[in-house]
Amino acid sequence: MKDFAVVGSGVGGSSIAALLSAKGFDVALFEKEPYLGGCSSSFSHKGYTYNTGATTLAGYEEGYIVKEIFDAIGFVPELIQTDPSIVIIQGAKTTPRYKDFERFFESVQTNYPHAKNREFWELVYDLNKEFYKQSGHYYANAGVFSKLKSLMSFLPLFLKFQKYLRVDAQSFIEDFFGGINAEYMQFLESQVLIVAQAPLKEINFFTAALALGYTFNDNHYVKGGFSLLFETLTQNVQEVHKKSEILQIVKRSDCFELHTAKKIYEAKNVILNSTVYESARLFTDANIKNYYKKYEKLNNHQSSFMLYMSIKSSKEFHHHYQIIGDEVIKNTLSKALFVSFSDAHDEKIAPKGIYSITASIHTDSRFWVDEANYKAQKKELEGILRKTILETLKIDEAEVLECFSATSKTFAHYINRSQLGGNAITMKNFLPFLPGNDTPIKNLYNVGDTVYAAQGWPGVMLGVKNLQRLLGV
Ligand SMILES: Cc1cc2nc3c(=O)[nH]c(=O)nc-3n(C[C@H](O)[C@H](O)[C@H](O)COP(=O)(O)OP(=O)(O)OC[C@H]3O[C@@H](n4cnc5c(N)ncnc54)[C@H](O)[C@@H]3O)c2cc1C
Repeated sequence: MKDFAVVGSGVGGSSIAALLSAKGFDVALFEKEPYLGGCSSSFSHKGYTYNTGATTLAGYEEGYIVKEIFDAIGFVPELIQTDPSIVIIQGAKTTPRYKDFERFFESVQTNYPHAKNREFWELVYDLNKEFYKQSGHYYANAGVFSKLKSLMSFLPLFLKFQKYLRVDAQSFIEDFFGGINAEYMQFLESQVLIVAQAPLKEINFFTAALALGYTFNDNHYVKGGFSLLFETLTQNVQEVHKKSEILQIVKRSDCFELHTAKKIYEAKNVILNSTVYESARLFTDANIKNYYKKYEKLNNHQSSFMLYMSIKSSKEFHHHYQIIGDEVIKNTLSKALFVSFSDAHDEKIAPKGIYSITASIHTDSRFWVDEANYKAQKKELEGILRKTILETLKIDEAEVLECFSATSKTFAHYINRSQLGGNAITMKNFLPFLPGNDTPIKNLYNVGDTVYAAQGWPGVMLGVKNLQRLLGV
């Protein structure tokens, strides 16, 4: 019998499996797909390699959460630092998000001049640096008493940042600037959406500041694609079962039984990396089913439409662009498209002279359920995004070697989830209401972006650290 069975090899599942293995536990990691990483994986298609969803790794620097967990595992990833970490293109304006404050400030003040700009961006910068110095807080959700006790651990953080936590980001920004034009507001809104996964009016200013300021921290490109990172990250996990979907979990008095199509495994503890919205179906036990069912209402159906492209080009590109248009693009939720290029020298991803491109835009999974229109709708959006990328970044049609797309339906088919935004922290969905890493069911835990502490590498890794603390290991 295993000490721990981890269901799913996303950022959360792979990291906790590797961490528990490094601490001496006997761990089995189960992944439905042949490649590891979930939303942060990479895959091959007709000879080219693409990152599936995530393309940037934030939080790998001294004093930050991803580095802390990787160090505890004894894992050193192969990375390239990206600076600027993203280049924002809005009409004729190009604003590189440099790590260096003055370098970035010069371009933002040129493109979006405002008397309050310095004060605003210094506040964003300071809140980022201050937040990552805070420690000692944790989140328990198994029972009322443990939850209240854990919420007390956030008291110093609440007291320090309360004036930014109590107000929605849109109102705060409007008041702060005392007038801000629609173009500048869109520049801020688009950047916040890709990190916080919610619009400015739904989140507090503190969350918005962390989203706007992540570029002041180190950001990295992962050499060879994300799945390679996960292969190395999990190399010391005792058992990694790929192409092994867990179809059912049965609670016994002293253990859990995990059923795949071929075999039944036993473990003392189970850690689910499947989303909380989709986990009820795994269980036969009514209590556990009900526990997960109550979280299904948190599913906001936010998802992504993906465009994957390979191009042959002698030009040089930045690693990441955000292209902001004037209108919300049809069948999406956004005016902005996030476009990532493979590194010109990363031949594990693409041979010299060829770039692999992963582009994403926010959509709603319910836009992709109409079988009759699905193909035509997909082709249409694929065409719009392809044209936007080629025209904005001055790439010739003739340079395109391959181009295809994926919808929420594609994600549901491969990694069992169509909601891809995670459980965003908003004004309504704040700490006491978040699903946690622990559950009221003994020896059953969660990890990943639909539970504490939300999405992206830093968010999921905060959850991994939280789980480590709750497990007392
Ligand atoms: C388009 C897009 C772009 C993004 N860009 C970035 C970025 O640049 N930087 C960043 O930090 N974050 C980014 N994110 C967010 C980030 O990718 C996610 O928050 C993170 O990867 C989620 O990790 P997770 O631990 O929740 O696992 P998931 O990614 O949800 O993976 C779960 C895994 O579990 C497996 N699984 C599910 N059910 C079962 C089962 N029953 N049996 C076996 N296996 C199962 C799935 O196949 C999957 O591999 C992006 C997300 C998307 C969608």
